[in-house]
Amino acid sequence: MERIYLDHAATTPLSKEAFEAMYPYFSNTFGNANSQHGFGRDGAAAVLSARESIASSLGAKPNEIYFTSGGTESDNWALKGTALALRDKGNHIITSKIEHSAIYTTCKQLEKYGYDVTYLDVDSDGFVSPSDLEKAITDKTILVSIMFANNEIGTIEPIKELCEVAHAHKVLFHTDAVQATGAVRYNVKDLGVDMLSFSGHKFYGPKGIGGLYIRSGIKIEKLIIGGEQERTNRGGTTNVPAVVGMAKALEIAIRDLDKNNEYVSSLRNRFVEKVTSQIDEIYFNGPKAKDYDKRLPNNASFSFRYIEGESILFSLDLAGISASSGSACSSGSLEPSRTLLSIGVPVGTAHGTIRFSFGKNNTVEEVDYAVEQLVSIVNRLRAMSPLYRPSTTTMKTIK
Ligand code: PLP
Repeated sequence: MERIYLDHAATTPLSKEAFEAMYPYFSNTFGNANSQHGFGRDGAAAVLSARESIASSLGAKPNEIYFTSGGTESDNWALKGTALALRDKGNHIITSKIEHSAIYTTCKQLEKYGYDVTYLDVDSDGFVSPSDLEKAITDKTILVSIMFANNEIGTIEPIKELCEVAHAHKVLFHTDAVQATGAVRYNVKDLGVDMLSFSGHKFYGPKGIGGLYIRSGIKIEKLIIGGEQERTNRGGTTNVPAVVGMAKALEIAIRDLDKNNEYVSSLRNRFVEKVTSQIDEIYFNGPKAKDYDKRLPNNASFSFRYIEGESILFSLDLAGISASSGSACSSGSLEPSRTLLSIGVPVGTAHGTIRFSFGKNNTVEEVDYAVEQLVSIVNRLRAMSPLYRPSTTTMKTIK
């Protein structure tokens, strides 16, 4: 049986072009990019050209791009680096309740070291309100960090507006753009952000590589110290093949963004229409059809009442369909998702949540097969659920 991959928010397959671009740097061109000889110079030249390419894809200058081991490190660096650098100015950080754990747990750690963190509420579709942000800022606020697009429900936050609010109060603004990069067209200068995190494996690049954009003139403390790499700002031998692969993947993602988004959103829309018309008592989490321009084009998150997400996921897996019961990083945890609770999904229903995230290699046939399997799995599990009584249910499907 061919397996069907509907979990592109967790990771994407490496594109052939990125793989081919990386290959020489695993073989003949293996030099350490910091070595003072020909092998080293070849590596350094590849890193330089990757940095220029990524900067141009994001609208940044090359010296504003720093390579890291991925989104998690970039998020840690932005938060801890700012917290340490601006300790004398203040100890207050503002974020939202629906951030990825790379931000959320870093904030929790900073609280242990004397920082105050405000976690902003979101509305029922997951949007952070600029006026709530304005109200939360104090004279001790040093940083606002709001994610660009949510990994579970796909909500795209009004980053430009939020950033303007922070800047009006002379507060730095960071955004975790790990899910947005390659799916939302943006330019860091237009957005106005001071720092922005991205990660290669979310846009058909390699895993274990990412970057942090730090606007020229912004000084934050180092997170990983050691050698002189990344212009002395991040120690550790540069992962040349991964840097090259990420640059190639991003170049292609930006080049094909409109075409891919149109295709992937057509698959997602077909899936959502079919699922909501064939299964009752479900919530479609995140922005609805009228606000699809504020939702990641590939994301469909459903909460199915009366049944457990894990059971659905397991049955889908047996049918050859790979999806996710929450964010990949927190699966395995029995805690209901913070994001779902924050948008008002009841605890019991939150447990019945599955995220489907489509990709450019999926087909209409795969979508139709996934719907067919999902409908039969939900019906079978509900037939066994003591809670589900079709005749007495009152809730209509929320599209
Ligand atoms: N931030 C968001 C919004 C994510 O979705 C993820 C990964 O799922 C991360 C950060 C972590 O990125 P990485 O896997 O590159 O460490």
